[in-house]
Amino acid sequence: DVIGGDATLADLPLREDLRGRSPYGAPQIDVPVRLNTNENPFPPPQELVDDVTTSVREVAASLHRYPDRDATVLREDLAAYLTGATGVTLSAANVWAANGSNEVLQQLLQVFGGPDRTALGFEPSYSMHPILSAGTRTEWLSSPRRADFSLDGPEAARQVAERRPDVVFVTSPNNPTGQSVDPGDLRAILEAAPGVVIVDEAYVEFSARPSAVTLIEEFPNKLIVSRTMSKAFAFAGGRLGYLAAAPAVIEALLLVRLPYHLSVITQAAARAALRHAKTTLGSVQALADERERVVRGLRERGFTPVPSDANFVLFGRFADAHRAWERYLDCDVLIRDSGIAEHLRVTIGTPEENDVFLTASDQVSEEIY
Ligand code: PMP
Repeated sequence: DVIGGDATLADLPLREDLRGRSPYGAPQIDVPVRLNTNENPFPPPQELVDDVTTSVREVAASLHRYPDRDATVLREDLAAYLTGATGVTLSAANVWAANGSNEVLQQLLQVFGGPDRTALGFEPSYSMHPILSAGTRTEWLSSPRRADFSLDGPEAARQVAERRPDVVFVTSPNNPTGQSVDPGDLRAILEAAPGVVIVDEAYVEFSARPSAVTLIEEFPNKLIVSRTMSKAFAFAGGRLGYLAAAPAVIEALLLVRLPYHLSVITQAAARAALRHAKTTLGSVQALADERERVVRGLRERGFTPVPSDANFVLFGRFADAHRAWERYLDCDVLIRDSGIAEHLRVTIGTPEENDVFLTASDQVSEEIY
């Protein structure tokens, strides 16, 4: 018996447009092999753990004061990392940071979306894009990918020109399907877009394709590139997302961000993690190699993996994907049912975890494939 437990959701004076909606819900289950939320499977190296600990200890003495509201030093560090990674010289004025890229995306929708505005995405794609749109009362426009989940560039640009969304989401590499956008296709979408184009590059470090950051100079009032430290940086628990754009975009975000949204602790921990970027990002190649091994293993077992340049693979085909997901769980392997018919998504884990996954795949393929 919980205090207040008699009041149900239906009893609340909820906004009508939120009634009947479902929250984001990747299951958090304690299973030996967890390959369901696209984290880096390698824990942070001891030097990073020590640096975070020392840095947080230092700032703890000033916890009675609010943090730097603009997270200037952290943004300088992020700009330096992006400059090195993309070859485009960026400064703190080009970079914004928040608690995970989900918060970055929400702030962008607060600024560029909202009532009477629309956001368009090419689905299947990241499920939070429509959820964040709903939360900010931005009407969601769904545009389909091809049957093989690739993006039809000319058709995408045509849809953008015709439907004139205020916000376009291009996820590259795309979650949950794995492929990156072709640079020519992205350019066509940018040229067609009447509003802003958010390229969600949460998994870009795993891809050999160039970052959209190289196009910011050409499309300063349209292009916003969103990134995160949750994946390749092995910092999902630290909650640090960021973006690169023209300085005017950052000025716009100041209008909606909560003051002091990035805690003293988050800023210090993220800066420490960035100092060890070389080591954490060293796992990227190993994970890409493991991805190719998992893809081969799935093919050998008769499955159909979708080509991926991220740290996960969508694969099928299952007559009943949800039952197959349950069978993997019976084998102590938690993967993801993204709701795509006949398909499941597996995050690339450590070599040992991938072995357990492939062994489980033997069983699943025998029983129900
Ligand atoms: N974008 C994409 C495409 C994602 O897959 C994710 C994580 N699942 C995010 C953004 C958000 O990640 P975070 O808030 O941890 O940065």
